[in-house]
Amino acid sequence: MMQVAQTAARTLTPWQFEVRTRRRSGVQRWILCRSTPDAQPDGSIVWCGSLSDITAHKKTMQRLRQSETRFRSLTELSSDWFWEQDAQFRFVRIDGNRAVRNQEQIKRYLGKTLWETGTQEGAREAQWAEHRAQLARHETFRDFEVQRMRPNGRLMWVAISGMPVFGEAGVFQGYRGTGRDISVRKRAEVEIERLAFFDVLTGLPNRRLLMDRLRQALELSARRSTYGALFFIDLDNFKNLNDTLGHHMGDELLKQVASRLPQCVRSIDTVARLGGDEFVVMLEDIGTQPADATVIAESVGRKILQSLNQGFDLAGRQHLSSPSIGITLFFQHQESLDDVLKRADLAMYQAKAAGRNTLRFFDPLMQTTAMARVELETDMRQGLGRQEFLLYYQPVVDEQARVTGVEALMRWQHPLRGLVPPGEFIPLAEQTGLILLLGQWALEMVCTQLVAWSAAPATQHLTMAVNVSARQFHHPEFSGRLLTLLRTSGANPHRLKLELTESLLLTDIKDAIAKMGELRSVGVKFALDDFGTGYSSLSYLKRLPLDQLKIDQSFVRDILSDPNDAAIARTILNLAQSLDLGVVAEGVETAGQYEFLLRNGCKAFQGYFFGRPVPVDQLRLNDSAALI
Ligand code: C2E
Ligand code: MG
Ligand code: MG
Repeated sequence: MMQVAQTAARTLTPWQFEVRTRRRSGVQRWILCRSTPDAQPDGSIVWCGSLSDITAHKKTMQRLRQSETRFRSLTELSSDWFWEQDAQFRFVRIDGNRAVRNQEQIKRYLGKTLWETGTQEGAREAQWAEHRAQLARHETFRDFEVQRMRPNGRLMWVAISGMPVFGEAGVFQGYRGTGRDISVRKRAEVEIERLAFFDVLTGLPNRRLLMDRLRQALELSARRSTYGALFFIDLDNFKNLNDTLGHHMGDELLKQVASRLPQCVRSIDTVARLGGDEFVVMLEDIGTQPADATVIAESVGRKILQSLNQGFDLAGRQHLSSPSIGITLFFQHQESLDDVLKRADLAMYQAKAAGRNTLRFFDPLMQTTAMARVELETDMRQGLGRQEFLLYYQPVVDEQARVTGVEALMRWQHPLRGLVPPGEFIPLAEQTGLILLLGQWALEMVCTQLVAWSAAPATQHLTMAVNVSARQFHHPEFSGRLLTLLRTSGANPHRLKLELTESLLLTDIKDAIAKMGELRSVGVKFALDDFGTGYSSLSYLKRLPLDQLKIDQSFVRDILSDPNDAAIARTILNLAQSLDLGVVAEGVETAGQYEFLLRNGCKAFQGYFFGRPVPVDQLRLNDSAALI
């Protein structure tokens, strides 16, 4: 201190120091001594000074230091961390053991708000909105849970709590609070849920979750008026496997079955394990008609049978297994959850009684339908091999009733049933994929016919319309195959017209436009079949590269008696004109219908009035005018 005093005297600068005194009473005080040099006229220096008691100030400072140290050691020891934000909710400080270890992480957060730090995961949008609203209201918040990325790339769950900080005049200054790593708790929660709702061995939903989903499915079914199906699947002779090869082999088989079942259904469907060797599959939203739902359920059932009939590899040993499957449909709230399950279970016992490795529907009528479908499919495959399918041709005429072309319509000459119309086999062919073969066959036939017609002047102008199914059209190789066929057959693409339906075009409009463009570039034409029965939205009609609309026969039928149908037909004719599309009226059966359509500007017609679909050798060409 003497040195400081001497320096101050030499340089004439003020100086100060603190001393601790002890009173006679023993009380300690801190005194601050301040000295300022004052140069006198005679050159001497006088020091003026003051003494202040700073004991209280000293004590406050000491308490502050202690409190800061206490806070530090707490945050150091705790797994929580402490943070502060400014009035714009940007982090200005992050402290604490865990945080201090990740200096890099801290740097990334400072100056940013919570929602700018990539921690958005975990909380839903609504929760974020609520959180930000709380901040805007300057409210205290607790345990706002978000996920953030650790430096090692793994996600961690964080719970953040904070309270607003106000300055002296009550001015909002920001927030301060704590953050906590709650990953362990979150993981435990997930695990608890998994144990409660999922089967431990296979990881599939358990009975509890299944019942929950079934309840939801019944609600959905009631809302949308759609059918669902429940399958009860029991492995045949599972007990034998357990008894002979041991439980661990049994478990292995169950695991493999559990991994195959989901491959037989859509991702929205449920596959559950009830226990033992009992599995349940639930399909939702499989049609508004019981017949459609039966067909879908049946085909999924077959898929499951086929999949579980493939051998299983049990520790290097090939094991063959098979299931017995009971199926029931459910619709709205017509029965309780337990009843639905019971019905599928009963049907499963019928499958067992029928010799196992098969499926049975609870409802005998459905069983009959399902069996009939299976028979029809087998029959159709054989029919294709035996060349039982043929094409009939129906004339399409112009205003003077002259034949300008034909539509090819498929028939099946069945050895027992006689001539079967397409309505009875095309839908199933579409479901089973057989339509790909049938459709390709029809395209080959019409190309051959076009080539034959091109040789004679009386027939070379005729156009050929052919119906194309959705499944056929959306096949990746559809246009490629047709282009090859046109080239190899030598058929004139300008005479070929493909009839598509609206639902087909709507399933994948981009794919449809691309394919249509590709085929149109060589001259193939496109007609929209059954127009007026689908969505008929103008916006997509404009986008599609079509040549023609076909007014559905349902409007033509009552065109003279039903003003609505007459108005629809007129509207379609006007619409087509404004879009520069041709129109064919289908199902014209009378002269009256023909005249009405003619009067309203229709230029092409098809129907029994001009000619029924017939084999090619019975097709009467330009003498049709005699009919009128
Ligand atoms: P579509 O393409 O709308 O064919 C017109 C249907 O109306 C034909 O029934 C035809 O026989 C019938 N029809 C024609 N004129 C009249 C009439 O004046 N009155 C009445 N009531 N009906 C008439 P068809 O031959 O039974 O064919 C039914 C449907 O089957 C076709 O409807 C078409 O969607 C489909 N179809 C036919 N052949 C094929 C094919 O080769 N492939 C595909 N994918 N579908 C086909
Ligand atoms: Mg058609
Ligand atoms: Mg039609």
